[in-house]
Amino acid sequence: MNKTVKRIVIILIILILLPAAFLTINEMISLNQNEEVIGRIYSNQLDAILYSVNQYSEDVVSNWASKIDEFHDDLNNLDDVKISSTIDSFYSQFPSLYLIFVADSVNSEIKLIVEKREDEDFLNKLGELKKSVKNILSENQPIVNRLLSYKKAGYRKLEPIKSDTTNDFSILLFIEETPEGLKRITGMMIDPKEFTYRILSPKLQEVAQQEFLISVFNREENYQFNSSRDFKIGEVQQSKALWIFPNYQIGISLVGQTIEDLVQQRALTNILLIGLLTVVLILGVWIVYRNIKKEVELAQIKSDFVSNVSHELRTPLSLISMFSETLEMDRIKTEEKKKEYYSIISQEANRLSKIVNSILNFSKMEAGKRHFNFVESYLNDVAENVYRSYKFHLEQKGFTFSIVKDESIPIIKIDEEAISEAIVNLVDNAVKYSNTDKKIIIRTGMESNNAYVEVEDKGIGIPEKDQKKVFEKFFRVSSGNVHNVKGSGIGLSIVKYIVDAHKGKIELSSEVNKGSKFRLLMPLRNT
Ligand code: ADP
Repeated sequence: MNKTVKRIVIILIILILLPAAFLTINEMISLNQNEEVIGRIYSNQLDAILYSVNQYSEDVVSNWASKIDEFHDDLNNLDDVKISSTIDSFYSQFPSLYLIFVADSVNSEIKLIVEKREDEDFLNKLGELKKSVKNILSENQPIVNRLLSYKKAGYRKLEPIKSDTTNDFSILLFIEETPEGLKRITGMMIDPKEFTYRILSPKLQEVAQQEFLISVFNREENYQFNSSRDFKIGEVQQSKALWIFPNYQIGISLVGQTIEDLVQQRALTNILLIGLLTVVLILGVWIVYRNIKKEVELAQIKSDFVSNVSHELRTPLSLISMFSETLEMDRIKTEEKKKEYYSIISQEANRLSKIVNSILNFSKMEAGKRHFNFVESYLNDVAENVYRSYKFHLEQKGFTFSIVKDESIPIIKIDEEAISEAIVNLVDNAVKYSNTDKKIIIRTGMESNNAYVEVEDKGIGIPEKDQKKVFEKFFRVSSGNVHNVKGSGIGLSIVKYIVDAHKGKIELSSEVNKGSKFRLLMPLRNT
């Protein structure tokens, strides 16, 4: 790898890949922390929902307590006949309210406020109930005292009481104040299942909507009431005791997915995104690297070109100046020698002008300013002309130079000058890249809808991997004798440019140490 390219690779790694790697690793680590945070947020949200259900049920019973308060004041002003019907209509307002009881103190007589019922069982149980309530009160004296002190401070609190004797019901105690300013212990016996079904159920559905499942359950009794569809206690993700019924719990769960599922899904999406980002980044770096590498190589090639061209110019120039100076000094005695020197000078001047011409053509071509003059011509004639002008010169150099023409080629529209320049470039190369087997053939012919002219040599050949590249500007094959052979790497790019202008194509067949054949194909259309 070139030094500059190496440096650029290191800069790219330091500037882009390293920070990107750090970022990715950091992101991965913080992903775990994020998962925890998100998990906590979800669980807080579920908690908040459970809290709101608890709050709601407490609001309901607290509202009932206020109503009972008012109701007691009313009862005192009614006669016996009316009392019974008032009690009945009062109870009917509160489904799941089983019984209200009052007592002046923990040890005093208990008064049950009973609605009229046909139910014999219920009536028979009343005596029993009275006793149980008395027991419960005395067992829970500290709670009663606490409620009393709250009330003294002006605050009515509701307190659930745990009791084994009234299993089917939950008891909620609170303290009332009579109009005379006396404190009275009041209790509500509520059926939790009825309460859940009649009072809580609409609220649960409203809170749960489509996103959550909420249930009220009691594990010991194997009871569960679900907000929407059936789900088992096992599926409940988070649960809390129901404040007003301590034996019951409310549980909540996300519909379809658990919190872990959600968090995992998020993490997966994040990891995928990070992965994608990394791939895009690496791809970007790779593209930048490739472009820079190409630019660096081109810069290298250009500087090679300059030194090649100057070298090519210097050789004929120094020969010309050396021989002309010798002649000028009149040191040459024989006419023969003089002639030889003149001919060298003119040969080198020719070479110079050829080099300069091809550079000029190349720069015109580069600027897109080269114009072509297409006229109806015989390709054979163009090839023949090149052959004739080179024959003597090449034979002098020891080449076997021949031409094979296909006489059936029709007239085609070509720029004669450009095509002969292309053939000359090919012949020049054939000469430059031939070793001991000095044989060059120019051949014309037809192939499908094309006429072609080709130049074949038995020279050093071109390795397969370079065969496409030789048509790129400034490209020179780095193996073989290329360093001994003068050249600038623009000859074949000019050939390609000319053939392209004719909407033709080039076929190259070549084998290392066996020789090369460049075939220029021009379409027959326009004939
Ligand atoms: P150059 O001035 O170097 O000859 P060209 O563009 O004419 O530039 O050719 C590009 C390269 O292709 C040459 O440097 C040489 O390596 C290779 N090449 C061209 N023609 C031949 C050939 N006939 N035989 C072997 N190699 C060739």
